[in-house]
Amino acid sequence: MATKRSSRSAGFYRRGGWIRGVFERGWLALALLALATVSSCSTVAVTGRRQFNLFSPTDESELGAAAYTEMLAESKGKEITSGPDFDMVQRVTKRISVVSDDPGFQWEAKLIDDPATVNAWCLPGGKIAVYTGILPVCQDETGLAVVLGHEIAHAIARHGTSRMSTNMATQVGIELAATQSEDVAQYREVVLGAANLLVLMPFGRDDELEADHIGLIYMARAGYDPRQAKAFWERMGAAGGGQEPPEFLSTHPSHSSRVEQIEQLLPKALAEYEAAKVAPKGPPKPISVRP
Ligand SMILES: [Zn+2]
Repeated sequence: MATKRSSRSAGFYRRGGWIRGVFERGWLALALLALATVSSCSTVAVTGRRQFNLFSPTDESELGAAAYTEMLAESKGKEITSGPDFDMVQRVTKRISVVSDDPGFQWEAKLIDDPATVNAWCLPGGKIAVYTGILPVCQDETGLAVVLGHEIAHAIARHGTSRMSTNMATQVGIELAATQSEDVAQYREVVLGAANLLVLMPFGRDDELEADHIGLIYMARAGYDPRQAKAFWERMGAAGGGQEPPEFLSTHPSHSSRVEQIEQLLPKALAEYEAAKVAPKGPPKPISVRP
């Protein structure tokens, strides 16, 4: 219906319309986010925490595989493919993955000859790298089980893509409110294109403590003594020599909160360890190793 207005009131009306539009778009963004949140919650194994994740397990595995290719390209020519350390990495990966809440990952573990890098990681889909710099801190197979228990826990708990989902939801909310030109699917494409974010984005403190929790249970289930975990983290804390913390520790929680949690969970972990000694759980599963 046509109405006659003065130019001043028409201007006011337009400004009002613009503001109302932003509100409408804001509500649309909120509605979409609410829908995405409701339809994208999953439960974390061991801890039972509910979390938000926009990625499907298939997306996640593809993302992990792409990031693996990128990260390994940086270590070209440095892969160790035989010997006792290599065998130990394969053995610990197999023993922990087989008792983990494995959703069907294609496990793969590489040992990288890089004594200056005190680090290890496990990408979504079960793609693992261990740098030789962390082995002296591990000291033995049980120490490596602490590291790989923790890293495998990050992957099983879907910490990488959950963190990316939260970032995406924030961005989508801002963009929708401003322009209404972007949607969740487009952001998903952008993030899928930046696979190495999985390795480059630091985990939050809560994710770290949850990975400690799940990792402690997994190492115990795999038959590694969980009482050694505390000593490992003490060695890791000392590895920086009071200067720059090792890469493996750079985003990790304070030593006291970590040790406190380990002590609190130790009775539960020891029960798993004792049960594992009596009855190993599940048949050994081969892991894919490309020489
Ligand atoms: Zn971690």
